[in-house]
Amino acid sequence: TVGVLAVVGRPNVGKSTLVNRILGRRAAIVEDTPGVTRDRVTYEAEWSGTRFQLVDTGGWEADVEGIDSAIASQAQIAVQLADAVLLVVDGIVGLTASDERIVSMLRAAGKPVVVAVNKLDTQMLEYQAAEFWNLGLGEPYAISAMHGRGVGDLLDVALKKL
Ligand code: GDP
Ligand code: MG
Repeated sequence: TVGVLAVVGRPNVGKSTLVNRILGRRAAIVEDTPGVTRDRVTYEAEWSGTRFQLVDTGGWEADVEGIDSAIASQAQIAVQLADAVLLVVDGIVGLTASDERIVSMLRAAGKPVVVAVNKLDTQMLEYQAAEFWNLGLGEPYAISAMHGRGVGDLLDVALKKL
């Protein structure tokens, strides 16, 4: 495989839904309740002929758990082991303080990051991705993990970082 791509973000933003979309099967557990999972699960994935490892994480709620426990979290470990990071945020909720704290930790880790703005299920909602330019991580990619919108373009960009 070409490398390891870790999927991180707050609980309930759609990380596992995105992982399932990329894998093309329901391997990762999708939950309506935020913050239940604390796992880090690695899958073998393939996208347009490129094989890579895709790591789903349970979520990273820095302002609830505190920075110290966040540093010890599975998401933190996943980032340390990754070649690149897919940061998933919720385009309906918008940019939160928690997202910003996660970005601070990602900066400290020094890994390449691609921002996926999820839950933008229709073209009419795509403009909601724009506010995530404020994270300072380059272009935010509007996606709908649930419907598959924008996921191909996102992966084309993310796999180039591996
Ligand atoms: P995780 O905690 O980040 O892994 O989030 P999950 O993948 O478990 O999803 C949390 C909730 O968001 C579930 O109810 C999903 O069905 C929902 N969800 C995930 N992706 C999308 C999406 O693209 N659009 C919409 N409308 N809902 C989504
Ligand atoms: Mg999940």
